[in-house]
Amino acid sequence: MTDTEDVTMSIAGNLDKVRQTLPEGVTLVAVSKFKPDEDILAAYGCGQRVFGESRAQEMRDKHSRLPDDIEWHFIGHLQTNKIKYIIPFVSLIHSIDSLHLLGEVDSQAAHHGRTVDCLLQVHISQEETKFGFTYDECREALRSLPGLHLEHVRVVGLMGMATNTDDTAVVRREFAGLKCFFDEMRPCMPEAFGVLSMGMSEDYMVAVAEGATMVRIGSMIFGQRA
Ligand SMILES: *Cc1c(COP(=O)(O)O)cnc(C)c1O
Repeated sequence: MTDTEDVTMSIAGNLDKVRQTLPEGVTLVAVSKFKPDEDILAAYGCGQRVFGESRAQEMRDKHSRLPDDIEWHFIGHLQTNKIKYIIPFVSLIHSIDSLHLLGEVDSQAAHHGRTVDCLLQVHISQEETKFGFTYDECREALRSLPGLHLEHVRVVGLMGMATNTDDTAVVRREFAGLKCFFDEMRPCMPEAFGVLSMGMSEDYMVAVAEGATMVRIGSMIFGQRA
């Protein structure tokens, strides 16, 4: 077997394992950041269509080279000056962390005649470095949305990243907190508000148990990143 065949086989096997552990109704975002086109095509060949990237130019370039029916999700920190690279095609932005950013996405989406689905990222971890709204800020943001008349974005849910720790109790508490907040907000939101994106390779089983509807899994499918 060639090395390429080897990699393709292992991605197929890994993807299969992940899928077997996901209940029906949970969407798998295959996080392909820093990985080459060949790896994405290996997963694509197994029927995977939803891929997540965290850098705008990298996602733009991959989108231009890879099949048209891939749904590209942006999961990294998004700077306003990078929105332009992804706005023509992105299908979900997981990482909206300010109303200013949401407003910018809205106006650029308007220029492209698109309506772009977005998640508000909530800071649920004990780490300083992860972006996102506090619960209070997020509640305020959601309440203020109707008055902002953003016609070209649709806030369809929330995203959160738990603390990177082996202490499952901590991770579980953080995911449970986000699920609780999600359930609290849902009745005040339009029907489309139904996505709860939480869980990565190390903690997605906990996230799913706590109510995630979408998981973002990279290294478990594609192997460690360089
Ligand atoms: C990289 C990344 C992931 C995937 O992480 P893995 O540990 O490789 O599964 C998920 N979510 C976000 C926001 C990421 O940046």
